[in-house]
Amino acid sequence: MLVVMESKATPEDIKVVVNAIENRGYEARPIPGGERVAICVLKNEGPVDPSMFAGLAGVKDVIPVTRPYKLVSRELKPEDTLVRIGSVGVGPGNLTIIAGPCAIESESQALTIAWHVQSAGAQLFRGGAFKPRTSPYSFQGLGEEGLKILAMVRESTGMPVVTEVMDDDTFGLVEAYADVIQIGTRNMQNFSLLRRAGRSKKPILLKRGMAATIDEWLMAAEYILEGGNSQVILCERGVRTFVHHSRNTLDLSAVPYVRNESHLPIIVDPSHAAGRRDQVIPLGRAAVAVEAHGLMVEVHHQPDRALSDGAQSLYPEQFDSLCRQVRSIFSSLQNNHSL
Ligand code: PEP
Ligand code: MN
Repeated sequence: MLVVMESKATPEDIKVVVNAIENRGYEARPIPGGERVAICVLKNEGPVDPSMFAGLAGVKDVIPVTRPYKLVSRELKPEDTLVRIGSVGVGPGNLTIIAGPCAIESESQALTIAWHVQSAGAQLFRGGAFKPRTSPYSFQGLGEEGLKILAMVRESTGMPVVTEVMDDDTFGLVEAYADVIQIGTRNMQNFSLLRRAGRSKKPILLKRGMAATIDEWLMAAEYILEGGNSQVILCERGVRTFVHHSRNTLDLSAVPYVRNESHLPIIVDPSHAAGRRDQVIPLGRAAVAVEAHGLMVEVHHQPDRALSDGAQSLYPEQFDSLCRQVRSIFSSLQNNHSL
């Protein structure tokens, strides 16, 4: 349930509504909007009687929220959220490109790739320091040393950095270095990690679980918003199906569906969806055509020598070409929208 206040409602009116909600054992979450404040009723188990609030001073409307996810839903916040990472915005009106290697392997590897992707037009640099690998014998990432290299890349290039957190124990460490904290597909329903992310002041990039429905994904995001962190970027990265021609199946219809349901920005990772380099550029183009707010792409200057995900990493020249192609698709979409 959402209690929408009049634009002329006073702080005292808002307080009375909050108290009325809390007195019934629910939680009140005021959400300031451009023109007016809306107060979301949380922690109710069944329907809430709207007449309890409708007569209070300054109340304009009482609207039932029909979706199981509330804070992430457009019912609660109709306007798009722009997530800010320094001077970079992810959300409406922007096409944000995040690029870098799957894993940070060394200072020179990270810097070589970072300079390249930046000159091609990437705004954010990615690279894993803690890697969730299927085999315990595969490269697990450099850990804190990788985080230090990421900080050095940020220092040298000015690009904010995105890196994955794997567990609660290392959350504080990753949070201290990262500009955006990634929660990977394997952790999408790690509820203690989601709660910890909710207490963070850093933006969270929440990947879709490889077998998650969109409701489950949005409910995972709800944990983070419910915890107090509204800076969430969703990332579609393909779901597991029966096919063998790609690592996963990129669910592009998730993009318009999520954009309709939620105010949160949504980007697409064509690299983990495809699992192979030859599909990354076409899938990246398609993602921008369905109006994803950005892309996250793996790039390596020596993919044959990469310690993880070399087969899906673009060569630097391919990344240049992808950037040119998607920028042109994005600008033609923008021109068409203004027709
Ligand atoms: C990654 O981005 O390197 C990664 C491991 O992604 P995902 O969680 O989508 O597999
Ligand atoms: Mn990877």
